[in-house]
Amino acid sequence: MKVISDLNQAPLVDRSLAAVWHPCTQMKQHESFPLVAITKGKGAWLYDENGKALLDSISSWWTNLFGHSNPRINQAITAQLEKIEHVMLAGFTHPPVVELSEKLSALTNHHLGHVFYASDGASAVEIALKMSHHYWQLSGKPQKKKFVCLENGYHGETLGALAVTDVAIFRKAYGSLLQEVFTIPSPDARKARPGESAEDVAKHAAKQLEELFAREHQHISAIIVEPLVQCAGQMAMHSPEYLHLVRELCNRYEVHLIADEIAVGCGRTGKFFACEHADIWPDFLTLSKGISGGYLPLSLCLTTDSIYQAFYSDQTQQGFLHSHSYTGNPLACAAALACLEIFEIDKVLEKNIGRSKDLAKAFAWAKADSRIEHWRQQGMILAFDVKNDYLSNRKNFAREMFANSLEQGVLIRPIGNTIYVMPPYILSPEDAIQLGNSVQLALEKTLT
Ligand SMILES: *Cc1c(COP(=O)(O)O)cnc(C)c1O
Repeated sequence: MKVISDLNQAPLVDRSLAAVWHPCTQMKQHESFPLVAITKGKGAWLYDENGKALLDSISSWWTNLFGHSNPRINQAITAQLEKIEHVMLAGFTHPPVVELSEKLSALTNHHLGHVFYASDGASAVEIALKMSHHYWQLSGKPQKKKFVCLENGYHGETLGALAVTDVAIFRKAYGSLLQEVFTIPSPDARKARPGESAEDVAKHAAKQLEELFAREHQHISAIIVEPLVQCAGQMAMHSPEYLHLVRELCNRYEVHLIADEIAVGCGRTGKFFACEHADIWPDFLTLSKGISGGYLPLSLCLTTDSIYQAFYSDQTQQGFLHSHSYTGNPLACAAALACLEIFEIDKVLEKNIGRSKDLAKAFAWAKADSRIEHWRQQGMILAFDVKNDYLSNRKNFAREMFANSLEQGVLIRPIGNTIYVMPPYILSPEDAIQLGNSVQLALEKTLT
């Protein structure tokens, strides 16, 4: 271990590498790849120790919706701080959590009128899985306890969420700790054969789900999906027709539908909830990441009145006895309320139509580049893949591309051979152009 003798003299990145164990990181790789120390943020821009600006084109891991140090969100949190910073939510309540729950319920037209809170995305997924499981016990069908998930899906990394995640690199070491699940083919539109549409792929994939349900539905509790975009799964996109078909199958076979909108919710796909593109409501809907504008850890699971009623009883143990210390934290709820207000007052969803066109224009070069395939966009997510032929002699394309983009003043974080951007909803047309140009230059450097 590296011991740093004079902490005040050492660069922040060295101190970090000595004392902080960073997430999703093989720490040794930082011997050759840069760790970036950020000391300030403003709008879509991050600033490092030396004042160098970086365009945050991935919204700081998909969380930041309205820019860093947003004056309105800052103000809302500060105002809440003067009132009450935190109080437990068991046996107590407070204005921000009540208001936020009412607003979210209204956004689902009250189809999902009950909100259960936690702090991070994976916990919200655990809640949905546990509620579904418990519901079937309470409904006299305890044998309905298996979960179905999609190939290439991602739902977080706690043990329950990891069990329904199909990303090998995250699962490999922990296989023996995870419950068994059914994994079905993804409706990933990139699978379309010549002459096939995304909708055709969706129909094939739904057919395979139907076969599983027909055979096993008596043992199945729920299916969990990421509506429209499997984000961690290389931004794989699918037709809304898939959600439509899955909803029908879930109704027919009495299986819960869990829509994990932790990444795709909060306007990312063009509507507030991605499920709205298919005109369906799930039985459980999870949100996190963007809900607090990228300010504070907050996650939640919305559900229907019929699920809620199954738990409503004179028996204590029939309740949903799940809790986290920071459940429904008032500061985080205040940040979320400020975000919902910005959505409304600034007509964000409407304006994002223009912003996603700016993005498409800024990345038009990639569509025309013969080294690139599967150029795709859904609202404020734009992605494309570098063809394997051009990667054959690259040791680690994603990391080299990340480093070269930093040099160009943009933060991107490719997943395998997929380059994507997912910027905050304040990106100016000029920033979009700069982003497109910088990524193009970085790609040129990486591939030559
Ligand atoms: C990020 C993510 C999660 C996990 O959220 P954490 O806050 O990182 O635990 C779950 N589901 C999806 C779809 C995600 O993108």
